[in-house]
Amino acid sequence: MDTQPKASHFIHGAYVEDNNGTPIDVIYPATGAVIGRVYSATPEIIEQAIVSAKSAQSAWAKLSGTERGRILRRAADIIRERNYDLSVLETYDTGKPLSETLCADATSAADALEYFGGLAGSLTGEHIPLADGNWAYTRREALGLCVGIGAWNYPTQIACWKAAPALACGNAMIFKPSETTPLCALKIAEIFVEAGLPAGLYNVVQGLGEVGAALVSDPRIDKVSLTGSVPTGRKVYAAAAAGMKHVTMELGGKSPLIIFDDADLENCVSGAILANFYSTGQICSNGTRVFVQAGIKDAFLKRLCERLDNAVIGDPQDEATNFGPMVSLRQLESVLGFIKKGEEEGARLLTGGNRISGGGFYLQPTVFTEVTDDMSIAREEIFGPVMSVLDFTDEADVIARANATEFGLAAGVFTTDLSRAHRVTDELQSGTCFINSYNDAPVEVPFGGMKMSGVGRENSKEAISHYSQLKSVFVRMGDMESPF
Ligand code: NDP
Repeated sequence: MDTQPKASHFIHGAYVEDNNGTPIDVIYPATGAVIGRVYSATPEIIEQAIVSAKSAQSAWAKLSGTERGRILRRAADIIRERNYDLSVLETYDTGKPLSETLCADATSAADALEYFGGLAGSLTGEHIPLADGNWAYTRREALGLCVGIGAWNYPTQIACWKAAPALACGNAMIFKPSETTPLCALKIAEIFVEAGLPAGLYNVVQGLGEVGAALVSDPRIDKVSLTGSVPTGRKVYAAAAAGMKHVTMELGGKSPLIIFDDADLENCVSGAILANFYSTGQICSNGTRVFVQAGIKDAFLKRLCERLDNAVIGDPQDEATNFGPMVSLRQLESVLGFIKKGEEEGARLLTGGNRISGGGFYLQPTVFTEVTDDMSIAREEIFGPVMSVLDFTDEADVIARANATEFGLAAGVFTTDLSRAHRVTDELQSGTCFINSYNDAPVEVPFGGMKMSGVGRENSKEAISHYSQLKSVFVRMGDMESPF
């Protein structure tokens, strides 16, 4: 596959280049080879993207929701038809194995477009009857111009999880992918045009954080949706606040996964593997603090090690591979730093812990036991394939420890006791909880964080309220009264 894009940016329905910007090499994580180059957006490119999007938005908002939705659903169909090629590209961009990308990336993007395309025709306000025959009605209106800023772990999915509700509500979007994964969003922009989306409604500009910062602080931008880390979230939220802009913040996590003695062993081991090693552990909602009750601990660790031996680590483009490289050398080094800290702070390295030699950024699936709540590996988001196993005996105690974090993105509970499952999830301070499951993210269900993990929700009907605003219109049927 030719991975070099036609140009760096996609503005007003066409590829645009400006090689005065800082060059960004696209690196294939499986080999470390440079597979493309884009240029960070210059101020001229940013201006072009904003002017184009502004010019296109109001006509788009005036179409009926059904007309807008039809285009989104057409884009979903094209994405599904091209799933294989888009998945290969996603694998080049991120290093995630094709066995994953074929079922979790473009397909999830298509789901979002299909879902919000379907909803677009039923976005209405309400009629509010009042005293004396007066009445009011509300109109659900677009916000205007939205900026989407993406992380590198799910570039296609993030691009569409933001674009689908934004466009359904009548907004335009400028999307800035992570500099680490610039390729996939450009393909989505091409597909939108093919599906009939008018030029300017979905522009892609590449760039480092400073391009995101320039977009966020521009007064012509009405809303910012960021997927990224908490430190970046703080900066972006503050910049958006200065302009009183709407925000959605999808940020990091350090989520608990609680395994009670009575859990089904195979299921809880599957859950822990999925919650720590899918996408080589680079998932915001991962359950990286695995609390295991004393009675099941030995059996859990034994079975976990046996199952980890089945990981097929290798060429991510080979469909037999189920564990790929980390996204970048920088991320690999950061995770190795956490592993070193884990050992220094007294955790026991049960398995893994080393870089795998060869060209790419491969790291062994890693499990620490005897982890305590105060250790860095139990407190900080690692964003790599590192599971920390913590011991517990008492239900109330584990709930308190699970909640003792600034994050609140996700949490999981494995138990066959129905009452306990619900009792515990009622107490967990997380935007999403899983019972005997982990990391499901269907588009019909709201997704987002509590506490430092974020603001607002993506997916589901809930996302509509974050990409639209209400106007109230009061109608007097009789004569006006006034004091003089
Ligand atoms: P970063 O926070 O480093 O970057 C996120 C995006 O913000 C990138 O596009 C980045 O650009 C851009 N950016 C950086 N600085 C600024 C700024 N000052 N103003 C505007 N934009 C800026 O996150 P990563 O890309 O490293 O992604 C990993 C993080 O994302 C993890 O913390 C993870 O938990 C979180 N995440 C959250 C998800 C959720 O839905 N809750 C889902 C997936 C990931 P550049 O890359 O060019 O620096």
